[in-house]
Amino acid sequence: MNIALIAHDNKKDELVRFAIAYKEIIEEHTLFATGTTGLRIMEATGLSIQRFQSGPLGGDQEIGAMIAKNTMDMVFFFRDPLTAQPHEPDVTALVRLCDVYSIPLATNIGTAEVLIKGLERGDLAWRDIIHQEQGEGNDK
Ligand code: PGA
Repeated sequence: MNIALIAHDNKKDELVRFAIAYKEIIEEHTLFATGTTGLRIMEATGLSIQRFQSGPLGGDQEIGAMIAKNTMDMVFFFRDPLTAQPHEPDVTALVRLCDVYSIPLATNIGTAEVLIKGLERGDLAWRDIIHQEQGEGNDK
């Protein structure tokens, strides 16, 4: 599965701790992140992560583009609800696209705990069907 990891500044420590705690689960998957979040997690865990631009510089939109192509399978986006973000429109767009494509999205650690356990036990197998259909579509 392709998994996105994003955290606003006040939530980065929490997402880093989450990634450390569940490293054995997420390392089985292909990881993507916005620039600073990805760097922090890589430094803390040694995980290999494909990093996009920093969020305010377009990283949220790059992850959004993967969602729009239906190639992102799960999103962990730890938002800071108490601080105004310069790229709020990008944040809103990313959340909206998850809803458009029914992509599991955790915007806080409470939901993230549930999603990660679902990921571990194979609850995302339906996404394999989407990928297979896309593969067949590409062959045509
Ligand atoms: P960052 O971006 O990981 O580069 O800090 C996250 C965001 O603010 O969307």
